[in-house]
Amino acid sequence: MKKKALIVVFDMLAGHWDKSIVVPSTGLQPPNVMGYVKAGKLPAFRECIEQGVFVYSWNNGNCNTPYGQKYLASGTYKVKAEAMNGSFCQLTEGMDRKTILNACKEQYPAGKVASFGSDAWMQSGWWKAPDATYGFGGYFSDFLTTQYCFKWMTENPDWKMTLLYLAQYDLTGNCPVYKKDVFYTEDKHHSLLYLDKILWMIIELLKESGWWNETLLFIASDHGCHYGCETAVEEGRSRGIPEKSLSNYCSNHQPPYDCRQWDFKNNTVTNKKSNCCRRTTFMINGGALPQDLRKKSISYGEIIDFSPTIAKLMGINFSSDGTSLV
Ligand SMILES: [Zn+2]
Ligand SMILES: [Zn+2]
Repeated sequence: MKKKALIVVFDMLAGHWDKSIVVPSTGLQPPNVMGYVKAGKLPAFRECIEQGVFVYSWNNGNCNTPYGQKYLASGTYKVKAEAMNGSFCQLTEGMDRKTILNACKEQYPAGKVASFGSDAWMQSGWWKAPDATYGFGGYFSDFLTTQYCFKWMTENPDWKMTLLYLAQYDLTGNCPVYKKDVFYTEDKHHSLLYLDKILWMIIELLKESGWWNETLLFIASDHGCHYGCETAVEEGRSRGIPEKSLSNYCSNHQPPYDCRQWDFKNNTVTNKKSNCCRRTTFMINGGALPQDLRKKSISYGEIIDFSPTIAKLMGINFSSDGTSLV
């Protein structure tokens, strides 16, 4: 099979949100892929939705990065992942399943498999790759990580699967949803607009290099974040955010992940589920995506379905607890 797979993982990117929620400072939904695409804000993500597959995807396990990355890599919730000192992760012997990167190498030994991203997840059980693994420091520049990845792909045109993990959106925990005229990572809104530019660059690279038609582009995230829910309001108050600013405050992705929506008008919690952190991104595009799979939205999927879906489309033998959604 001639196909290649480029896997892009954006940390913390919510793929979808409850349609009824609007952020007063922006007049938009809380920053999320589908809501911002519908508002005309994300042209690169829009192209992927219009030409490819969009899955309303959920993380039904632990919505912290050490877990989410493993769920994505291995297609099972049965993993052991421990955050050490807040970010570094320890591998626990015997608890890790085969990842999609290793399965790809077994199936196609002649094709190179590489990974690029924060060193904490470029380890065995997460995204360590059989041929080349580039681990950068925590929250290293998305732009530069992307450039290293592009350079390696260009120098190794026989690449079969490349994993690009970008961490900087995860810096937008405990920050405003919107602030006027700020840079990337200072608010959620501008950070999401920036991710669209990164995705545009990735698509450009594939097209300009002549790889687009043979490539499947898989886009995912590990968790979302709290906004407009009891958890976000509680966290904001504990950090001294004024009451009037709580409706513009985006919290991190701490438990509880099963949270309820907040009613800002009456300043009280509602009975409506929000489950903000569980709302993950899962999209497929690329020129190699079969025509009959295009322009599809799938109403329910899980984070553990990501790797088995890649395996199905790439013809890779891979056993997991998830199911291929195509
Ligand atoms: Zn994360
Ligand atoms: Zn929440």
